[in-house]
Amino acid sequence: MPDIRYRTQSDRLPRWHFTLGVAVLITVSALAVGLPVADGKVTELSEHLAVYHGPINVGIVRDGPRALLIDCGDGTVTGALPKLGIKKVVQVVFTHHHRDQACGAYDLAAGGTRIGVPKAERELFANPTSYWNDEKKLWCVSASYRPSPLTLTEPLKVDEAYSDGDELTFGPAKIRVLDTPGHTNGAVSYLVEVDGKRVVFSGDCIYDEGQVWNVYSLQKGFAKGDRRIGAYHGFMGDRWRLVESLGRIKDLHPDMLVPSHGRLMSDPAKAINTLAVRFETCYENYVAISALRHYFPELFTDYAGRAGQMPIRPGVKPPDCLRHFGTTWMLVSKTGAALVMDAGSASVVERLKKMLDRGEIKSIDGLWVTHYHNDHTAGIGAFQREFDCPCFADRRLAEVLTKPAAWRLPCLANDPIRVDRRSEDGQSWQWHEFKLTAYNYPGQTLYHDALLVESGELRMFFVGDSHTMAGIDDYCAQNRNWLGRGVGFQYCISLIEKLRPTHIFNCHVADAFTFTPEEIRFMRKNLDRREKLLGELVPWDHANYGTDASWVRCHPYTQQVRPGERVRLGVVVTNHSTKPNTVRCRAVLPKALGPARTSWSKLDVPAKAEKPLPIEFDIPMGVPSGRYVVPIDVQYGQRNLPQFTEAIVDVK
Ligand SMILES: [Zn+2]
Ligand SMILES: [Zn+2]
Repeated sequence: MPDIRYRTQSDRLPRWHFTLGVAVLITVSALAVGLPVADGKVTELSEHLAVYHGPINVGIVRDGPRALLIDCGDGTVTGALPKLGIKKVVQVVFTHHHRDQACGAYDLAAGGTRIGVPKAERELFANPTSYWNDEKKLWCVSASYRPSPLTLTEPLKVDEAYSDGDELTFGPAKIRVLDTPGHTNGAVSYLVEVDGKRVVFSGDCIYDEGQVWNVYSLQKGFAKGDRRIGAYHGFMGDRWRLVESLGRIKDLHPDMLVPSHGRLMSDPAKAINTLAVRFETCYENYVAISALRHYFPELFTDYAGRAGQMPIRPGVKPPDCLRHFGTTWMLVSKTGAALVMDAGSASVVERLKKMLDRGEIKSIDGLWVTHYHNDHTAGIGAFQREFDCPCFADRRLAEVLTKPAAWRLPCLANDPIRVDRRSEDGQSWQWHEFKLTAYNYPGQTLYHDALLVESGELRMFFVGDSHTMAGIDDYCAQNRNWLGRGVGFQYCISLIEKLRPTHIFNCHVADAFTFTPEEIRFMRKNLDRREKLLGELVPWDHANYGTDASWVRCHPYTQQVRPGERVRLGVVVTNHSTKPNTVRCRAVLPKALGPARTSWSKLDVPAKAEKPLPIEFDIPMGVPSGRYVVPIDVQYGQRNLPQFTEAIVDVK
C-alpha cells in the first residue's frame, strides 16, 4: 500500500454550490402549491386558422365545429376550443416526437381523434417502450440525444404517417408536409394554406428571429468529404441540416412562421437569415479554441489561419518518469513503484503484468481516475481484481463512478467502480519523490478531476481529456460544459494560469503541451464572447440553459424498487441565472402506478446554484415488474415545461 498522507486544504470548489445526494431528500411532504394558469391565449390568424399559446404553440385549423390540431402540447388546448365553437378534434398532426409536443395526445386519441405523425418518427410515437427498454440507449452512449430522452414514455396509437410532399386537406385548408430535420432526425413542418394565407408550423426548427429553443438537441455527428465524426464530437453538429430545412421553409415564401416554442414570426426570411448567421458566428467562435482541431484537422481546414483562431503549437516529449499507453498515463518513481492513471480496457492489466514480470516497474501503488467515460474506466474492474492498491478520485467524480445508475451521462457504463480514497479539491500528499495535488476540474465534463505532480522543476498537470494543444474539449453538450467566469473551462484555465504547469497531459495524446499566458487570455476572451453569443442564440437569460441538457435532471436517474416500496428521487435543478428562481415539479405517474400525478412541490433555487427538489410516491402492491418511466412536469419561473425530464423506475 502506498504511503498516502492527506493534508487537508481549504475547499476550492468553483463558486457554484453543489447540493447533491439523496440524503437530503428524506422530508417529502411536498408543498402543494397552486398551478399558475398557463397563458392559454388564442391568436386568430384568419377565419379558419388560429394558434393556442400554452406551454407550446398549437395550430388550430377549423372547419365549422371540427378542428385539426398541429401538435397538441400538454392538451390544455382542448379547454380553449369551446370558446371558438369547436366541438370535436378530428385529427392531430405532429411536427416531432418530443413529449412537450405530444404528451396531451393520449386523452385525445382515447376520444377518437386521429393521430398523424412524421413517418421517420412513427416508431417513437407508436412504440417508445422499445427505446426505453434498450439498455444500449442508456449506457456507454456516445451522445444520448438522438432519439432524445424527451421521447414519449407510453405508446400512442398512430393512424397516419407523413413524409415530404404529402398533402392533406381539412375543410378549406390545404396542408403540405415538409421534411425539416435538424431539431430531431425526423421532424417535419406543415405549410397551411387557407383564407389566402400561407403559414408554416415549423416545430422547434426556430424559436424566434435568430434563436432556437436549445442548442443541445443539435448534438450530432457530421461529415466533410469522406471524413466524418460521430455524435459525441458533434457539438451543434446538426445546425447545417437545420439551416437547410429552414432554407426549404423560406423558399415557400410563407407569410408567417409559427414555432412550437417561441413567438410568431411575420418576417420568416429575416428570422431565418439571422439564425443562420448567428449559428456560423457561434460555431466559428467554438472552433477557434476547440481541441477537435488537433484530432480532426482536415475537418476544420476552412477555419485554419482565419483571424480569431488560436494557433496550435506542437507538443513536446514527456519527461522520462512517464509512460503512456491506451488512455493511460503512468508515473514511475525512482524506486520502481508505479502510479497508474485511468484504465480504459483490460489490456492495460496485461501490459502492467508484463512490465512487472520484466522488472520495468517493481510495484503498482495506486490508480487515479480522471473521469467516468468508459474509454478510461472499462479496465478498472480487471485492474482491481489483479492489483491490491487503492483507487482514488475526486469526491464529486466518485459519486458518478460508484453509483453510475443514478446518472444519465454520455459514455458512462452501468458498472459501479470501487473508489477507496475520495480527494478534496486542493488536497496534497507525498508519493515517493513526487508531491501530488488533486483538483476538481470541470473541463471535458462537469464531473472530472485533475492531478498536479511536482518534482524538482517539473510541474506535470494531468487533465484527463480536458485539453489538447489546440485548446479545450467541450464537444459533447451532454457532458455539461458550463459557460461563465468561475465555472467550467473558465475555472479550469484560471487554475492552469495559477498553477503554471511545465507540462499538461491529455490521456489520448502522447505529447505534452502547455498554454502561454497569452493563450490563456485568448481562451478566456473567447469563452466570454461565447457566453454572450450563445446567450443571444437561445431565449433564456443565460446561455447554459441552451447548452446544458441536464439543468433539470432526476437523481437517481434509474432506481430499483419492489412493489409496496416508496420511490424517492430528487429533481435537481441548476439555476444558471444571476437571480433566484422558483421551481415547481410533480411526477406524472404511469397508469399502473396509481393516481395520475403527485402534488406540486416547490423550491427556491438561489442564483448559480444546483438544488434537489424531493419527490416521492409509492409503488402499489401487485404492480407487474418491469420498467416504468416517470416524466416530471416542471414550472420554472414563468416557464411551463411539461414532462421536461424523467426518471426510470425498475420494479423487480
Ligand atoms: Zn422539441
Ligand atoms: Zn473523456
